[in-house]
Amino acid sequence: MLQVNASIMTIGDELLIGQTIDTNSAFIGTELNKVGIWVTKRVAIGDVKKDILNTLKSLAIESQIVIITGGLGPTADDITKPTLCEYFGSRMVTNEGALQNVKDIFSKLNRPLIPRNLTQAEVPDNCIVLPNRRGTAPGMWFEKDDVIYISLPGVPNEMKGLMMHSVIPELQKKLRLPAVVHKTLLTSGVGESTIADRVEDFENSLPSYIKLAYLPAYGLVRLRLTGRGSDKNVLEKELNDQFIRLQSLVNEWMVAREDISLQEALSKLLREKNSTLSTAESCTGGYIAQLITSIPGSSSVFNGSVVAYANEAKEHLLSVRHETLVKYGAVSEETVCEMLNGSLQHLNTTFAIATSGIMGPDGGSDEKPVGTVWIAVGNKKEVKAVKHFFRFDRQRNIELAAHAAMTMLFRFVNEQQNYH
Ligand code: ATP
Repeated sequence: MLQVNASIMTIGDELLIGQTIDTNSAFIGTELNKVGIWVTKRVAIGDVKKDILNTLKSLAIESQIVIITGGLGPTADDITKPTLCEYFGSRMVTNEGALQNVKDIFSKLNRPLIPRNLTQAEVPDNCIVLPNRRGTAPGMWFEKDDVIYISLPGVPNEMKGLMMHSVIPELQKKLRLPAVVHKTLLTSGVGESTIADRVEDFENSLPSYIKLAYLPAYGLVRLRLTGRGSDKNVLEKELNDQFIRLQSLVNEWMVAREDISLQEALSKLLREKNSTLSTAESCTGGYIAQLITSIPGSSSVFNGSVVAYANEAKEHLLSVRHETLVKYGAVSEETVCEMLNGSLQHLNTTFAIATSGIMGPDGGSDEKPVGTVWIAVGNKKEVKAVKHFFRFDRQRNIELAAHAAMTMLFRFVNEQQNYH
């Protein structure tokens, strides 16, 4: 099968010193992969002309497509355009469409247009301009010696718009790309080794053009089947069959049979059950509420959260009894269950989640070491509480606790028959 290789080059000193995390490459890599283009190399380069030129030369030897982001702005450190001119032996000209776009944007913002801003409309004369609907710097498409070079702005939102509206459709039109189909499911609360043991025979039986990928993160493992072929319909049918086999093997751990997050899967389930959720959070500090509310439309299932960090807050806001806190402590089954009940009552929801634990690095004891977290989930009829141990740094422990709590509730909701 024909393989089209691409490389990604991100430009900017800020990428090298860790000031900006290179999310552009991740996005571009994902989108190219979806349409059957293999990313063979990703390189980050500082704002240095010689380095950019050398990197362009070397990437062009191994790739049919080189995608570049960054350095298109109007300031002195933005050197991508003059460097591309030198690389292609071209000269800078003003592009009328890009100029109008700059003028329109400044007039909408009601800001004065200074000559420096007008340089955003200057492009090397050998490029095809890709209009940028989200910003002033246009994208640029070059072709030389059978290699396509695409230069995009560094601003992630602008780069994404150009990738989705221009670059991907143009590449699909221009190149003969293989059909690529992905099918993803999400498991929670099980390690990838256990899954690998379970699916070993299945994985070995897959044809060479279908691959299984394990994508683990914070107590979750995403399983993705990717098929490549020449006939999309045939491939889709075969991938569907394999996906059904995979689902049946991991069914007990599966929380979604599509490429969504755990919080999306939980919200979807609650919506299907016409139910509502509230959280009472101590050690997770509202993080579970933040994850749920990051999903558009979460207001139909999420009533609210009480972040009760201090004991007084647990008593006053969640009606946890003073005696419970004195006798068992804040990190205990008794306290977390009372927090849960308080949340169900005060926020008037079908289900609730409560968390209380010691996230570290200090604050642990022999009896309750750092990483001890009590999590309760339930409704007005039944409560389930489990003690967890998370052995990582504070941030990771918080993430793990949030995922463990949402997984517990997901399973609890699924087990309920008559919960109203
Ligand atoms: P502009 O025309 O707006 O100046 P630009 O093409 O010159 O855009 P840069 O100046 O390099 O782009 O970066 C603009 C913004 O985008 C900065 O906030 C930068 O941190 C961010 N950015 C640049 N490159 C990346 C990247 N690879 N990943 C994520 N963010 C990036």
